[in-house]
Amino acid sequence: MRVAVIGAGIVGAACAWHLARRGADVVVVDDGGAAASGASFAWINAAWGNREDYAHLRMAGMEGWHALAPALGDAAARRTGSLSWDLPDDALAEAARVQPGWGYDVRLVSRAEARAREPLLRDPPPHALLAPAEGSVEPEAAAAALLGGIERVRGRAVAVERGVRLDRGHVAADHVVLACGAGVPALAATAGVDLPWSAPSGLIARTRPVAARLSGLVIAPDCHVRQRPDGALLIGSDFGGSDPGADPAAVAGDLVDRARRLLAVEAALDGWTVGRRPTPGDGHAVVGPLAEDVSVAFTHSGVTLAPALGRMVAAWAVDGRLDPVAVPFGAARFAAA
Ligand SMILES: Cc1cc2nc3c(=O)[nH]c(=O)nc-3n(C[C@H](O)[C@H](O)[C@H](O)COP(=O)(O)OP(=O)(O)OC[C@H]3O[C@@H](n4cnc5c(N)ncnc54)[C@H](O)[C@@H]3O)c2cc1C
Repeated sequence: MRVAVIGAGIVGAACAWHLARRGADVVVVDDGGAAASGASFAWINAAWGNREDYAHLRMAGMEGWHALAPALGDAAARRTGSLSWDLPDDALAEAARVQPGWGYDVRLVSRAEARAREPLLRDPPPHALLAPAEGSVEPEAAAAALLGGIERVRGRAVAVERGVRLDRGHVAADHVVLACGAGVPALAATAGVDLPWSAPSGLIARTRPVAARLSGLVIAPDCHVRQRPDGALLIGSDFGGSDPGADPAAVAGDLVDRARRLLAVEAALDGWTVGRRPTPGDGHAVVGPLAEDVSVAFTHSGVTLAPALGRMVAAWAVDGRLDPVAVPFGAARFAAA
C-alpha cells in the first residue's frame, strides 16, 4: 500500500514512521516552508486544564515518546519531570486531586521539596505540582530520526487527487495523510472538508548555554523555562510562547530578565524563534479519517501528541482500525456542529 504523508514536521514524521512500521510504502511530501515544530517549546505533558478524554490522548502521546526511545537514540524525548505553579492554589489542588484518578502521576509538593528538586529557584513557591512523567524533546532532531530511510519529495501540495497534486507534478498514492500543520485546512478543503482553525504566533527566547542545570521543566506564573541538552534555556511567557508584538527583540529580552528573576543563573539572550501554532477550532486535535482514502493529523500540542497521532493514523490507514482514544477527535465533529 502506497501512502503519501504531507508534512515533515514532528506530526508528519511520526505518521510516516508508524506507517512504515506497519509495512506501508511511504513517501513524505514537504515544501520546506515554515514549521511550528522548530519553534516549539516542546513540553511533553498532559498538564492541568484538559477534559478527561483529551488528557488520555495526551497521555497516549507521552507513552508514545517513551515507546519510541529505542528507535530515536540520542534524539529520544527526556522524561525530566516538571514543576508547575502557574495556577491559583485551589486550581493546583484540584489538578492534584482529579488527575491521579485518570491514571496521571501528579502530586502537590511543598516549598522544601520544590527547593530540593530545583535548587536554582530563587524563591520556590509554597506549593507546586510535580509531574514526573513529563519532559521534552528536540522536535527537529526527533523528526529527522523518524524520517531516516523514508522516501522524501520536495514540493508544495495543492490538492488531494488520486494521491497528491503538487504545484509542479503529482505523487500517486492509495492513501493520503494530511499532517502538514497550518497547511492542513487548505488541503482538507480540496477533499471536501472544512476544518475551523487559527494559528496564533508564539515567541520563545533562547539563552546562551548556562553551566548550571535544571532538573526538569519549570512552569512558573511569570515564565515557562526548559533547558536543552546543550545548556541553553528556552523561555516563553507560557508554553505556547509570547506574543511577539512589534518588537520581538524586546519581548525576548524581557523573557530572559524574567528567567533571571526566577532562577539563579547568569543567562544571556542568544536569539528567539517565532512560530505559528496550528490550532483546530475547538482547541483539540483532529485525528483519523477525513475522506475516502484520506486521513488527518492536525493539532496544537503536536509535540506531545505526535507519537499517538502517528500510531492512530497508521492503524486506521493500513488496518482500518480506529483507536478508541481517537474516536472523540474525528473531523466529523465539525460537520455535526
Ligand atoms: C511557540 C510555540 C510553542 C509551542 N509549545 C508546545 C509545547 O510546549 N508542547 C507541545 O506539545 N506543542 C507545542 N507547540 C505546538 C507544536 O509545536 C505544534 O503543534 C507542532 O510542532 C505541529 O507539528 P506539525 O508537524 O503538525 O506542523 P509543522 O511543524 O508546522 O510542520 C508542517 C510541515 O508541513 C509543511 N507544509 C505545510 N503545508 C504544506 C503543503 N501544502 N505542501 C507541502 N508541505 C507543506 C511545512 O512547510 C512544514 O514543514 C508549540 C508551538 C509553538 C509555535
